[in-house]
Amino acid sequence: MKTVYSDDHNLHDGLLDPRGDNWGPSAECPARANNVETAIRENQFGEIIGPDVFDDQRILRIHSLDYLQFLESVWNEWLASGEKGANARPDTFVGAGMRHAETECVVGRLGRYSFDATSPFVAGSWQAIRTSANVALTGAEIIKGGARLAFSACRPPGHHATVSYCGGYCYLNNNSLAAQSFLDDGASRVAILDVDYHHGNGTQSIFYNRNDVLTISLHADPKVEYPFFLGYADEPGEGDGAGFNVNYPLPFGTAWDSYSVALSDALDQVRRFSPDVLVVALGLDTFAGDPTTFFEITTDDFTRMGAAIASLKLPTLVVLEGGYSVDWIGQNTVNFLGGLEDG
Ligand SMILES: [Zn+2]
Repeated sequence: MKTVYSDDHNLHDGLLDPRGDNWGPSAECPARANNVETAIRENQFGEIIGPDVFDDQRILRIHSLDYLQFLESVWNEWLASGEKGANARPDTFVGAGMRHAETECVVGRLGRYSFDATSPFVAGSWQAIRTSANVALTGAEIIKGGARLAFSACRPPGHHATVSYCGGYCYLNNNSLAAQSFLDDGASRVAILDVDYHHGNGTQSIFYNRNDVLTISLHADPKVEYPFFLGYADEPGEGDGAGFNVNYPLPFGTAWDSYSVALSDALDQVRRFSPDVLVVALGLDTFAGDPTTFFEITTDDFTRMGAAIASLKLPTLVVLEGGYSVDWIGQNTVNFLGGLEDG
């Protein structure tokens, strides 16, 4: 299978995360995608190609124009404001009872378009963010061209990003952009299966009122894990979308024996929906060795996960999401893709 990849993600570097009383290097670092690309190359897994360039109309099918303009301009606004620091990030958010006002202060604007403080902007962020979307959209084009499988090695990831909010290391929702592009070019129904450790709140919210995209997420229970405020079992979709969102919140310590039961049920949901295309939001942070999470999926289990999804026999685009074991993200990705390819 072809992999779409760009070095541009390296421009999104030097990100800082809160660590107790200090700020430390973010787990969402360039080594992640670099190690995925290296593992694919060293395993001679298949051709690696660069992304095509897509115009903003593709982005505006999912995201709002004001949000897109914010993402593009925020770094320069930060510089012009005289704010100090190499990470532009918010400290004030829109709470209940407040307005989404058009504040002119860059710190206010950061809060207006962020739902948390984990997604800073550095000088090269916009180029990396926009290229990551192009990587996802290029993968979709490969499937439209007749390939059964393709892998978009996106960074930064996307599944937490909503129509007009960044958060959870995500800015543009890459898997949703890909799903919409399938629909815009002739598909009737697309299923998005999110196997990242964290609930795909952005993807769910984007399609929550629609019945042309089935969104399914298997993830750590938000009662005890990020993103806390969405991802529960009682979120079936609304309006036309009623019945077209399915969440599988799973407890800490979930290993393949119970994960595979939930996955099997999720795959039955996909079969009943009978989509033209499947998009897999592939997070590798369910891995037992991930330093940031609490599931027990092994390196070999990722092969089983890919093989289980292959049983759907659907054209499938895999979009890279999270995964913070820098040492193992490459091998785990190759194992998943190998399972998917070999079925
Ligand atoms: Zn995650």
